[in-house]
Amino acid sequence: KRGKTLAVVGESGCGKSVTMNSIMRFTGKNAIVKADSIQYNALHDGKVTEYHLESITKPNGPEMRALRGPDLSMVFQDPMSSLNPVYKVGDQVAEGLLQHNKGMKKAEAREKVLEMFRKLGIPDPEERIDCYPHQFSGGMKQRVVIAIAMICNPELIICDEPTTALDVTIQAQIMELIGELQKELDMAMILVTHDLGVVASVADKIQVMYAGKIVERGDVREIFYQSTHPYTRALLDSVPKIHSTNKETLYSLKGTPPDLINPPVGCSFAPRCEYGMNICRKKYPELTKFSDTQECNCWLHDPRADVSNLPENMIRRRQ
Ligand code: SF4
Repeated sequence: KRGKTLAVVGESGCGKSVTMNSIMRFTGKNAIVKADSIQYNALHDGKVTEYHLESITKPNGPEMRALRGPDLSMVFQDPMSSLNPVYKVGDQVAEGLLQHNKGMKKAEAREKVLEMFRKLGIPDPEERIDCYPHQFSGGMKQRVVIAIAMICNPELIICDEPTTALDVTIQAQIMELIGELQKELDMAMILVTHDLGVVASVADKIQVMYAGKIVERGDVREIFYQSTHPYTRALLDSVPKIHSTNKETLYSLKGTPPDLINPPVGCSFAPRCEYGMNICRKKYPELTKFSDTQECNCWLHDPRADVSNLPENMIRRRQ
């Protein structure tokens, strides 16, 4: 929804980025995007326009190019490789504006780029606009990448781990800037991250992803205080606690995500799950709904599973 943030969390290799790239149709011409539905309802001048992204056959055709920029936009993980080294940063930001606003003069686009640079706190924008990416630090480069993504006032912005490549102090500044611009432009945001601290401070809703599937979803309080999937709990347990003593060993989830070329039968988390039952290795768990916003795919909460030997605090029944 406009002005709201959905966070997609999960460890590296669980499919977060590939899902986002599929929505944007950045997966390359040989990739097959299969979905029950990828719908996007754009509000243009108060009118809702419905797009079905899966029906757009050419990922780089004119329909998709028209959507990227004013409707959907993306901030990538690595600012170092997101910018073209041989073009001035100002020209890279202005490109989207000139592409989507036929008849816009270059001088007008330059003014808008300068305005965006000022909003993003890029010092000496009149001078920096004509610099090349190698003349910028990592944090400044990411500001330019954000400018490219936001210059056409998109309705939905996808931020794919926008601060992973930056150091911690810069990370906080970048997240703050994204939040301010989101509020000002009233954009919807999907934030992909494995940093649960960031999620707690910016997200409205959370989806937890494992092996290419959403295994639990809920609003922020539900996920942080009443999570129901063992994988979500493992992610939360892996975060250092501010009150823990230095004698406590930090929890670490054993194993790695499965090979998705040959995914395991049943629940993909079963090989790593300490609560796994026989049924988990045979059949994928159905969805259990706990509230209007929280649901999870796990056999622990299904009355058909034999949970007699498992800890009670792990089991929750549907409402
Ligand atoms: Fe663990 Fe079974 Fe739940 Fe999968 S379905 S997370 S293996 S308890």
